Amino acid sequence: MGLDDTDSLQGGCTTEVFFQLLEQLPEHVEVLHTRLVRLWPFAQQRTRGNAAVAAELKTENTTALLKFLNDFWMRCILPLKGEVQPSEHSERPQYPSDPGMVWFEDVKPDAEFYRKGLTTEIYEKDLPAATKSWGGHGKIGATLAVHWPAKRSTYEAIAWRVSENNGERRLDKEAIKFIDEMDGTFLCRDQRSGSSMVAPRGKSPVLFGVRAWNKQAAEEALQRLITGAGTEPVAGCMVFETNQATNDHLDTAMEARIEEIEILKGGHTLLHSSEDRFLAFKETGEISTTCQRLQPGDIIQCKGMRAPDESIHVEFLQIRHLVPKRRRPLCPTCDKALTSMGKNQGLRCKKCGLKVKDAWEETQRTLPMNRWIQPPPSSRRHLAKPLDESQEWQNNL
Ligand SMILES: [Zn+2]
Repeated sequence: MGLDDTDSLQGGCTTEVFFQLLEQLPEHVEVLHTRLVRLWPFAQQRTRGNAAVAAELKTENTTALLKFLNDFWMRCILPLKGEVQPSEHSERPQYPSDPGMVWFEDVKPDAEFYRKGLTTEIYEKDLPAATKSWGGHGKIGATLAVHWPAKRSTYEAIAWRVSENNGERRLDKEAIKFIDEMDGTFLCRDQRSGSSMVAPRGKSPVLFGVRAWNKQAAEEALQRLITGAGTEPVAGCMVFETNQATNDHLDTAMEARIEEIEILKGGHTLLHSSEDRFLAFKETGEISTTCQRLQPGDIIQCKGMRAPDESIHVEFLQIRHLVPKRRRPLCPTCDKALTSMGKNQGLRCKKCGLKVKDAWEETQRTLPMNRWIQPPPSSRRHLAKPLDESQEWQNNL
């Protein structure tokens, strides 16, 4: 079964509704596998985290399971329909939540369908027919989550707060330090700011989420955190298999010779090449500052997603070639740059009047070459694989 689009203004979150559902399952139903799948970041009606959830359920009594799912839908999910979600991007049109739930008696993972769901808009009419389904737009994400082939995956351990706790999240400091330093976890801390990335900010029923390369590490980190003396009581917890940090949303690197560098309103940078336009948001940190220092003729390699306006949003960048910087030679007496007197007229020192033949000097520019860079963790997509965590991967890129 899959579930999506239950986020609400009250700070609800699809993972929590899903957790409640699994908690209340009848005794004869066994939960074999839970997953959290991130989807196309440009989808028009995407939810805040843009994630759908799914679980593999096993039972001898499908009729009773379907009756339970139907009851749960009517009682707990349907009332969430129509809530407008808060958004950090004010220019984005706001869609009311339109939950969807799907049940497939038999599922064949579908790599092509999943790929489409990561790179283009999917409509309800494109969905494979479910054995049973409930609701509206959320069926799209729910169906994609069910059909994710999980060829590459990571894990995330999530714990939810008991409903009485609303203020600042309390997590055991020693446990936070332990999980940050242990093998197998990633993105526990923003290396630049030093702040922990385990707890979400603001209104959310999630107490923490710990990302890990394998299930064992996710489970170990989860136990450490929930049993830590300084951690507040939790309503429950679960380990999800997920497509986070897999780079599943990206194609192979594109190479481009830059023709023009345009700085946009807000400090974003648009690179023009003969084939494409590459957009580097100000928030991408080193990518943004590097792009602003590029010059026509420079060659870059980049990975990113094509946005509906056809520009490519840069997520990984490296410089392959820099054109040398040219400048006029200095006057040997005055140490001032010589200036041109016009085409084929030679150069002249404005101070002492020295005249020489027309000439250029070339100097090397100091920008990092042949090294991939990516945005800081806080402005990265959930799907993006961290560069600093995996040298091996960097070499394979
Ligand atoms: Zn001079």
